[in-house]
Amino acid sequence: MLVVKNLSVRYWGASDYALKNISFTARPGELVLIAGPSGSGKTTLAHTIAGFIPFFYKADVLGEVLIFGKNPVKEGIKALLGLVSFVGQDPEMFTTSLTVFEEIALPLINLGYPKDLILKRVHEISRMLRIDNLLNKLITELSAGQLQKVSLASALAIDPKVLVLDEPLARLDKLTAKSVSILLRKIVENDKIVLVFEHHLDEVLPLADKVLVLKNGKKVCEGKPHDVIHYLRDVDVPEISESFLLAGFDNPPLTVDEAVKYYDSIKKRMV
Ligand code: ADP
Ligand code: MG
Repeated sequence: MLVVKNLSVRYWGASDYALKNISFTARPGELVLIAGPSGSGKTTLAHTIAGFIPFFYKADVLGEVLIFGKNPVKEGIKALLGLVSFVGQDPEMFTTSLTVFEEIALPLINLGYPKDLILKRVHEISRMLRIDNLLNKLITELSAGQLQKVSLASALAIDPKVLVLDEPLARLDKLTAKSVSILLRKIVENDKIVLVFEHHLDEVLPLADKVLVLKNGKKVCEGKPHDVIHYLRDVDVPEISESFLLAGFDNPPLTVDEAVKYYDSIKKRMV
């Protein structure tokens, strides 16, 4: 269980709080989407949950974060080792290895996994993400989208209970964004908690169990994807929803499939 309770964060030297009294919970099996426009506090929240604030980024923190009993605000990233994996919005700032293989293997090496298990996990994960053809490449040779997937593979390698992803879809083309979103859904079904901080919502919104919308550091709403769609109008809504919203629909479909079902039901009513 992950609990964020009355969390407020003010960076040192800043006059205003970047996060204001945020509370929410996430349970194993839940994909939680934290959406909000640029500057709304997504990265600050991700960094606080992942144990970087107030240690790497100095800040005053009020309230509490508890992840399966661990307190990252008090204990930092060390307390989360093996439990939480984080992928930042600029993966190139976090990569430390020369090759893709090393990058994916590193968290396993750090946790002292035996060599044969490391090899097995790296191959499993890279096949799952369809990057097994990249294992011998240099990190510097990768495209932004490939690097995003390698970072995700590295985060998944240790099979963490909690995955915290800051804008994992921002650099991906539509098709890859969709396949990564479906993969995240599958991971969650394995009793994990996945927190996705995003403002590219087309692919991931329909797959989320719960959505929080942030604005100016405040949580302005929380609910199922269909319940929060109106709050997302100035962030991003799926293209298909946009046209229904413009036509004045209160509860627009979020996917093409839903739109087709909706039209079918109208057709049936007309005959
Ligand atoms: P988002 O990820 O939604 O774009 P951020 O969490 O990055 O939002 O930013 C929220 C607010 O905090 C912004 O006003 C931003 O300028 C400020 N901020 C972010 N990082 C820092 C920092 N290291 N020091 C001071 N202010 C920061
Ligand atoms: Mg951000």
